Amino acid sequence: MALIVQKFGGDALGDKGKGRAVDNEDLRSSPPLSAEKFRHVARIAKAARDRGDQLVITVSAFGDTTNRLLRMAGALCEEPPARELDMLMATGEQQATALLAMALHAVGCPAMSFTGPQVGIRTDQFHGSSRIRSIDGARLRAVVADGRIPIVAGFQGSTDDDEITTLGRGGSDITAVALAAAVDADVCEFYKDVDGIFTTDPRVCPAARKIDRISYDEMLELASLGAGVLHSRSVEFAKKYNVPLHVRSFLHDGPGTLVTAEDKDMEHVVVSGVAFNRDEAKISLMNVPDRPGIAAELFSQLGDRHIMVDVIIQSTAHDNTNDISFTVAKKDFKRAVEACKEIAAALGAAGVQTDERIAKVSAVGVGMRSHTGVAGKMFKALADAGINIQMISTSEIKISVVIADTDLEGAVQAVHHAFEDQTEFREIEETTAC
Ligand code: ASP
Ligand code: MG
Repeated sequence: MALIVQKFGGDALGDKGKGRAVDNEDLRSSPPLSAEKFRHVARIAKAARDRGDQLVITVSAFGDTTNRLLRMAGALCEEPPARELDMLMATGEQQATALLAMALHAVGCPAMSFTGPQVGIRTDQFHGSSRIRSIDGARLRAVVADGRIPIVAGFQGSTDDDEITTLGRGGSDITAVALAAAVDADVCEFYKDVDGIFTTDPRVCPAARKIDRISYDEMLELASLGAGVLHSRSVEFAKKYNVPLHVRSFLHDGPGTLVTAEDKDMEHVVVSGVAFNRDEAKISLMNVPDRPGIAAELFSQLGDRHIMVDVIIQSTAHDNTNDISFTVAKKDFKRAVEACKEIAAALGAAGVQTDERIAKVSAVGVGMRSHTGVAGKMFKALADAGINIQMISTSEIKISVVIADTDLEGAVQAVHHAFEDQTEFREIEETTAC
């Protein structure tokens, strides 16, 4: 018998709307209920219970309820007060809990719905982006011991002053892991419309395949790939409290991807996945004087403006100057360029060059800690595909390259292909490691 937290997201419980703009029609109609989806989820939970497992369930608002609520707020007020917005947003998840409790009763499973505050989910006071501080696991355990399934509204909690708060978009994943930590669950299951986490995005690389097991750290690095598969804060939380996560499909019973603490076996797989993003742009300061304090000045000024910098390279000095290039998120690009122009002038640099047409491709794997030759193999794969590398950055478990955005698909496919055959890769280790 296991104690399992099951999380059902908006897709499991409802259909996504078309994201229409606010109109009267929109505001008149209530979110369409897909009773069959609720019944289906109830059957999944019942099956686990029939196998003898104990359950705690948490849900998101069904379908596009949260977006609808936001549109309603927007129709009445340009900048709704954060407190009132949280009050409204929290109702989406509450509807889903009560409806699922009813669907479970209908299949003969006693269940009880709870708001976040009812099970003592305490958060800080930052409306719209609160962080969970504590959960009262005792109430949940008592309900479970009583033979019932508690269904907790995800994405919400309350402050010490009993103000309702929400955790930020996609935040019910965080609730799920926090609940699992609070009741010391054996596993936290996420029911999704995908089979699990993939080695890369199958739309970009058809050879992508489902990963059976992956470490928390790898999952965090691959988050950019996940495109909403798991909220990264939920993975951080899971790592901190050592909660195993199981990302699986609500469409069939097969196993998905297990996200767990790293173990020896994982090291055999050198590259677990290939992540990529198109969300960064490159900025270069040309001919910056080569003396101590220049980089400190540049990056602390960007930091003061809350501009996050990712990959950085500095060329070797020629004539006492060098070039410093780095990438920033596209959303910060304009601000960053303006700042760099000022900074470049103050530092006596020759000027600022920019390139928005870049992409970043990363190979991720804890096996990199114990294998050599990984970077060489990745760069050779890119070279063979005729792809020029503009920038490189590495961490213990990741190698990233910045390339032209037009090369993205080819690069992902080449890198994925290079590491597909892990057997071949172990031979490289044997010949180069000693
Ligand atoms: N319903 C919230 C949202 O749409 C929270 C969640 O889905 O996790 O962002
Ligand atoms: Mg959601």
